[in-house]
Amino acid sequence: MTEKEQQLWDKCVAFHGHACGGLTIGFKAALYAMELLNAGFSDDEQLVCISENDACGVDAIQVVLGCSAGKGNLLFRLRGKQAFGFYRRSDGKGVRLVLRPRPEGMSKEESFAWMQARTPAELFEVKEPACPLPEPARLMTSRRCSVCGEMTMESMLRLENGQPVCLDCWHPYTRFGL
Ligand SMILES: [Zn+2]
Ligand SMILES: [Zn+2]
Repeated sequence: MTEKEQQLWDKCVAFHGHACGGLTIGFKAALYAMELLNAGFSDDEQLVCISENDACGVDAIQVVLGCSAGKGNLLFRLRGKQAFGFYRRSDGKGVRLVLRPRPEGMSKEESFAWMQARTPAELFEVKEPACPLPEPARLMTSRRCSVCGEMTMESMLRLENGQPVCLDCWHPYTRFGL
């Protein structure tokens, strides 16, 4: 690791709470995304990450790339895979990094050391994005739920008897259990 990478790694560990193999996966994916998309830390939505898991690695992506839930440039498309899509907003270029299968039979410690010693290109296969770049975060109008009275983003409201209701007050109508 370079000195700059070491500093970034230390920040990731501080944010996540511990050093682990999962954090290493996200850290290396973030370094690879920086290299492939010529990206740095996003103070806005310049880079978008679509994570296919909600495990330890996502924390490193937030720290290194500035993709975060609050800014709307960290999205989850949960597939239970160690895979991450990264997109550059300026021109829409995207990559999907998929962790290659690892050697079996390693202890937790061995696995951590093994992953730490790999380059991003050794760890990840670069594939085409699994879905198009999502639109930028929209500013939504909120309306009052007619039942509980709480202000709710329009896109999350349903209609019941012609009145807007939030998802907590809504009674779903699913006769086939679908
Ligand atoms: Zn962890
Ligand atoms: Zn309500």
